[in-house]
Amino acid sequence: MTARPMIAKKNQGVGSLDFSVQLMEHLVVPTFVLDAECRVIIWNRACERLTGVKAEEVIGTREHWRGFYDEPRPCLADLVAQGRIAEIDALYANHDHAGEDAILAHGRRAENWCVMPQVGSRLYLAIDVGPIYDEDGRLIAVVETLRDMTVQKEAQEELQRLATRDGLTSVANRRSFDDTLNNEWRRASRESRALSLLMIDVDYFKRFNDTYGHQGGDECLRQVAAAMSRVVKRASDSIARYGGEEFAILLPATEPDGALLVAERIRAAVEAMALPHAGSEVAQHVTVSIGVASVHAAQSGVPASLIAQADAALYRAKHEGRNRAVLAQTEAG
Ligand code: GH3
Ligand code: MG
Ligand code: MG
Repeated sequence: MTARPMIAKKNQGVGSLDFSVQLMEHLVVPTFVLDAECRVIIWNRACERLTGVKAEEVIGTREHWRGFYDEPRPCLADLVAQGRIAEIDALYANHDHAGEDAILAHGRRAENWCVMPQVGSRLYLAIDVGPIYDEDGRLIAVVETLRDMTVQKEAQEELQRLATRDGLTSVANRRSFDDTLNNEWRRASRESRALSLLMIDVDYFKRFNDTYGHQGGDECLRQVAAAMSRVVKRASDSIARYGGEEFAILLPATEPDGALLVAERIRAAVEAMALPHAGSEVAQHVTVSIGVASVHAAQSGVPASLIAQADAALYRAKHEGRNRAVLAQTEAG
């Protein structure tokens, strides 16, 4: 037995290595094989079809990344061949979590969005990599097989979107808000930062429905949600439909002054849309009242206490005349 990659040998007939190479060539699973120096020794037909890259363009080179990405980077097979297991986490969207020894012995599975420059549309690929050793335990090749999971991944992402978004306004739904609040509450404690919450309620909305019908009311809620989305821009902020015609906005790392400023901008943005509201007693247009509450570092209490404070402030905003933002009184003052 030789230590050289045996698949590079030229033999004839069933059972020979050449026959194995031919089998792999026609295997329906997209597959490529690297030698121990990470040069491509096999790039099968299915891999040509998947990537749009011909075998003759990559055989003998280290250019296999061109099939998947638009700039040089290691593929999973390179990382396994070079024992660079620690880098897998940063380079792949998802992967199994076997120990390093297990990976070097049995290979690894990972998933990633790939650019696919020759195909022209990105694909979500499931990638399996298996190292091959000679009798002396030296690595002679790494086999990488690929599976196009784009349809499944997109379906899964769409389901996730449906499960977390409000169907009418497309902002987060109540369930997703509850999760986000719990996570942000814990983060505020951990990082010793402020967390602010706005509760927003449309003024005289019952009368809006009475005047313009339920469908008119629904359209109004869409417009109010869109106005809020235009004002609230930080990636960490989250807007949710809390229930009925009430919205909640979480502002992590935001002190009371900042939260009140955002609230005032939302109030003004809704007013500026000038959506007619003949039944309102505070304006001729749709307006909102906003309760603002902040907690610093979430040292005491539970997430529900932040909601209760914002609710109380909203109640005051209503009683003080609506179309305004009111900051919750802190326990200290
Ligand atoms: P206030 O100024 O005190 O908030 O008065 P309001 O009439 O808005 O009072 P309240 O908040 O109690 O009324 C909420 C109304 O919002 C009740 C319901 O008719 C309406 N509503 C709740 N959810 C929806 C919805 O999804 N679509 C529509 N069109 N109307 C809704
Ligand atoms: Mg309400
Ligand atoms: Mg209301």
